[in-house]
Amino acid sequence: MPFRFQIEARDGAARAGRLFTPHGEVQTPVFMPVGTVATVKGVPQDVLEELGVEILLNNTYHLYLRPGVEAIRGLGGVQKFMAWDRPILTDSGGFQVFSLSDLRKVTEEGVAFRSHLDGSSHFFSPESAVAAQIGLGADIIMAFDECTEHPAEYARTKSSMEMTLRWAARSKKYFDEHRNEVVWFKQDTPAPAKGGLGRGTPAPVPGQTQTLFGIVQGGMFPDLRRESAERTVELDFPGYAIGGLSVGEPRPMTYEMVNAAIRFLPENKPRYLMGVGTPEEIVHYVAGGIDMMDCVLPTRAARHGLLFTSEGRLTIKNARFATDEGPLDPNCGCKVCTRYSRAYLRHLYAANELLAQTLNTIHNLAYYLDTMRRVRQAIILGDLASFLSGVQPPHVSLP
Ligand SMILES: [Zn+2]
Repeated sequence: MPFRFQIEARDGAARAGRLFTPHGEVQTPVFMPVGTVATVKGVPQDVLEELGVEILLNNTYHLYLRPGVEAIRGLGGVQKFMAWDRPILTDSGGFQVFSLSDLRKVTEEGVAFRSHLDGSSHFFSPESAVAAQIGLGADIIMAFDECTEHPAEYARTKSSMEMTLRWAARSKKYFDEHRNEVVWFKQDTPAPAKGGLGRGTPAPVPGQTQTLFGIVQGGMFPDLRRESAERTVELDFPGYAIGGLSVGEPRPMTYEMVNAAIRFLPENKPRYLMGVGTPEEIVHYVAGGIDMMDCVLPTRAARHGLLFTSEGRLTIKNARFATDEGPLDPNCGCKVCTRYSRAYLRHLYAANELLAQTLNTIHNLAYYLDTMRRVRQAIILGDLASFLSGVQPPHVSLP
C-alpha cells in the first residue's frame, strides 16, 4: 500500500494513529528499536515479532560500509536481507558520519569522511545518501542533513541550518527523480473500471515505493528551530523529523527545542523525534505531539546490565540480586520476566554469558514497547493526564 498517516484519536496535543507503509501498518505513537547493522544486537527477528515490534531502524552509514548497498540491493533489499518483512526506516547516514567517522570534511557539496572500520575514503552528498537509502530499500528514508555540533555559536548554527535546508531540497529532488528505483517497487496498476464492462481510462493507483521525510535542525536556538521547521515544511515532505538533539545538551533544553519546532509542523503529518530517550521522556514527548521515536538506550543499556522496570531502574550486577528468586519486573509479562529469576540473570551477567545480553535486551524492549502501548491506549481513552501523573517527571538523569 502507498504511504499514509491516519490519526485515530487525540488527547491534548497527543495523537494515536496509524502509519500505512508498503511493508505493513505501524500503530503510533511508536518506539522504533535500533537495528544498527540490520540486527537488534543479540535478539533474533522472530523474538522481535513476538515482542510486537512493528518497525525497526537501520543505520545507512553502517550498512553502506558493510556489507555495502549493492550487496543488499542484490539480495532483494534490506527487509529480505534480514528476513524481516515488516516496515523499516533508515537514517540518512548524516548523524553517524558526524559522530563516528574520522577526518570528515564538510563542504556545500557534501561530506568526505573516512570509514571507522578501515580508514577508507568515502563521500556522502544529499544525492548519494538518498541513493544509498534507495538501494537499501527501507520503507521510510531520511533527507541528508548536517547534525550541528553542540555547543555551537548562533552564526555557525544558522549557516549549518541553512545548508541542511539546501540539502533537504537536493535530497527531495533526487528522490523524486529516482523514487521508482527501489528493488521492491511495484508499477502503478490501473484501478478496476467502475460500472462493470466500461472500458474508460481508469485512474492509476500510485506505485508502492519509499517515503522521504525531512529533518528539522537549528541547534539550541528556538528561533532557528522555528525557522528550520517552517522552511522544511515549505519543501513539502510527507513526514518530518526533529534532529540534532540528544547531542550532549541538558534535558530541559531538549524539551525546549522540541517545543520550539513542533508547533510549526503540520498537524496531519507524522512527527519523528530522533534519538531519544528514557521511558519517562518518551511518554512526555508523546504528550507533546510526537508520533515516532528511536533510541539506542534500551538496547545499549541492557548490554551493560541496566534494566528499566515498573519499579525503577536496576543494575543487575548488584550483589543483592545474587539470592533474589523473584522476577526482574513483577509487573512485566515478557518471556524473561515470566521465566527467569533475578539471581539467574545476575549470574549470567557476572559470568559474561552471551545469554545475558539477549535476555536483558528482550526485557528492556518489552518495557519500552509496553510503555508505548499503554500511552497509546491512554490517548484513545482520553485518559492521558492521569497516565502522566503516574510517570516520573522527565528531567531525571540516568544513574
Ligand atoms: Zn520483562
